[in-house]
Amino acid sequence: MKINEIFFSIQGEGIYTGEKMLFIRTEYCNLRCSWCDTKYSFNEGYSMTIEEILNKIEYYRKNNNFNWLCITGGEPLLQKDLNGLIKKLYKKYKILLETSGSLNIKRFLPLYNLVYKDIDFKLPSSSMYNKFNYNNLRYLKKGDYIKFVINDENDFNTAIKEIENINIETQFIIQPVWDSNVGWLADKFMGYNIKNTRLMLQEHKYIYGNKRGV
Ligand code: SF4
Repeated sequence: MKINEIFFSIQGEGIYTGEKMLFIRTEYCNLRCSWCDTKYSFNEGYSMTIEEILNKIEYYRKNNNFNWLCITGGEPLLQKDLNGLIKKLYKKYKILLETSGSLNIKRFLPLYNLVYKDIDFKLPSSSMYNKFNYNNLRYLKKGDYIKFVINDENDFNTAIKEIENINIETQFIIQPVWDSNVGWLADKFMGYNIKNTRLMLQEHKYIYGNKRGV
């Protein structure tokens, strides 16, 4: 697998915010979101075998107490050994997979049911709108969620429209782009009755700042 970085931190996004996790960030992404905050993952990576990754996880485990792993990117579904890695880990850890929502999860990860999923839904300001693969809605289970990152009013209105059209029970997260003014978004959010939707910020960036490896 091509790995960009492995680090221990606090999950700052989505419904598992606040959980201690070991993050495994893979290299490369098929999208190029305008506001991407992990561009360094596009082509900075090194090869690691599954065995080496397992050893690294055990190394962190010796000194830290965690039950969660977060496999993120980049786009982790593009790593062909991902299934093999998850097969080795799912009995011992809870695994959260963060994906852009653009690739068919079942096709790229037949073991998709063994992980919790944070699935992005890209909105117009990202320049990647219409990339969402609607087949992914069929693969959601309890504990998964769909995340909308919002930069402006058009993004917000588009997210509302998409949420209303998604006819399944799941959790939705609305999250402002980092460093944007969130007051207007909170006001808009309070004015709508949107099903199963929470407004959340990026907690880890409030704790550590907007930097790499946290
Ligand atoms: S999907 Fe994620 S990693 Fe890929 S470009 Fe968008 S924000 Fe960056």
